Amino acid sequence: MERYADKIWFGAHIRTMDESLSEAQALASDKNGNILALGSDEDILALKGPKTELFDMNGAWIVPGLLDTHVHYRMYGESLLKLGIRDLSKEDILEKVREAAENAPAGKWIVGGMGWNNEVWADPSYPTREELDEAAPNNPVLLPRMDGHLIWVNSLAFKAAGVTEDTKDPEGGEFMRSAEGKLQGCCSNAAAAVIRGAIPQPGAEERKEAILAAQAQMLAYGLTGISDMHDTPQDLRDVEALYAEGKGKLRYCGTLGDCLNEKDPEENKTFLEKLPILGKFGGRYTVRCCKILSDGAVGAQSAALKEDFSDRPGHKGTLMYTPDELYHMVKTAAEHGLQVATHSIGDAAIDEILDAYEAVLNEIPNPDHRWRIEHFQTVTNDSPQRAARLGVVASMQPMHAPNSASMAMRRLGEKRIHGAYAAGLVMKSTGWVAFGSDAPVSAPSPLSGIHAAVTRTNDQLLPEGGFCMENAVSPMDALKGYTIWAARAVFADDVRGSLEPGKYADFTVLDRDVIEVAETAPHDILKIKVLKTVIGGNCEYKA
Ligand SMILES: [Zn+2]
Repeated sequence: MERYADKIWFGAHIRTMDESLSEAQALASDKNGNILALGSDEDILALKGPKTELFDMNGAWIVPGLLDTHVHYRMYGESLLKLGIRDLSKEDILEKVREAAENAPAGKWIVGGMGWNNEVWADPSYPTREELDEAAPNNPVLLPRMDGHLIWVNSLAFKAAGVTEDTKDPEGGEFMRSAEGKLQGCCSNAAAAVIRGAIPQPGAEERKEAILAAQAQMLAYGLTGISDMHDTPQDLRDVEALYAEGKGKLRYCGTLGDCLNEKDPEENKTFLEKLPILGKFGGRYTVRCCKILSDGAVGAQSAALKEDFSDRPGHKGTLMYTPDELYHMVKTAAEHGLQVATHSIGDAAIDEILDAYEAVLNEIPNPDHRWRIEHFQTVTNDSPQRAARLGVVASMQPMHAPNSASMAMRRLGEKRIHGAYAAGLVMKSTGWVAFGSDAPVSAPSPLSGIHAAVTRTNDQLLPEGGFCMENAVSPMDALKGYTIWAARAVFADDVRGSLEPGKYADFTVLDRDVIEVAETAPHDILKIKVLKTVIGGNCEYKA
């Protein structure tokens, strides 16, 4: 029986990323959205039948659908819907607020993204509530400063939070006041939290809007699949509802958070019993992973280190759980047959979770568990070798390295810096690593990620010359980190991550060869354009 192709993309340069890194000119898919064949234009066009759709790629480059193994989907969407004020002058910010207020119903909060920076303004003194009152007389407004520790609000925001001239400052925060003792308009830390607490929780429609905004932007970045970290049952229900409506396009892997400890919310523990959910909606919706948060962050001095923070003697950060608690949490996941992804940043946290993984695996052997360590950010000992031996997946975020370089140097010091954000060092032991963005911390742009992994600089090309270049990875390994290795981290390498017959026809079309650009003029990776994003044979984004 003749097998005609449903669709054929030809005239392309295709990096299949299969075992032998073979290349092809054309790709044919079947009516189920799976790859039928790859090969030369001549061989593949021979599969053309009377109803086959043809797409001439005009020499564009095709790579397997790019994947991001660590995003915060809803939070990223929410960040896209906030007022963009980064790097703007005060006048421009006020103009944006005025415009937003004119288009918003009275009483609706106007919330800014990160964040204003008074240091670059003509007048660097702190802005006032009166300025915002004038721009938005009928809406409460909250605009965070770039560091997130200070917010600028108007009188209606104070009113909504019940803060008056008589309100005392909370511990660890300040309602800044004028010389006459009046509320000035800026609030720090705990005082800022009081105001934030007055913003109503987003309703179902707003949550849906945020997720769809995230999806649209991710498709434009060339992503075909994501691994969403630390979801609540509500997050997972929201995402699932979009797929049920046919609006979910990305291949989604959710990760239920706060569900393994006795003290976790009942709702989460109940939701755990429903897992795993595998490949619903045509292989687009999967939840088979539980998230553990085992320490904090280097920037906040809350990562759990074996030795003191270099800029804070006597302080080693904090482990969130005792070894015994962690062991029981991992065991609960193992008993449910689930994957575990643990946020571990400091070297002490990494050792502690490796101990827990090892103890549980000794009891409940599982040669293909793919338990993950998220960030794997501070390496000072043999933790990469242990991870390799235990089959633990390192899930890392290349953009964190250049963006955190100077902060990490202060916090960790000369001795530890070469093991910080050390993708190259970790890979020497594990042989592979899965890459992601931690959006909204960094934009979920895999091209920016590949650029950062290869050059150890961020989108602004900083730090100059790259941060600890011995931890850079090769262009091919960087691409694997966003394709086949990312797929492996979510148990999807049998259907995604490379372009091979039988796998999903998920691919990203670029105007140039990312490998060649990375090898010859690596900063030009940032200029590569995503032309199309195709999932299951359907074009979901077109430039
Ligand atoms: Zn994260």
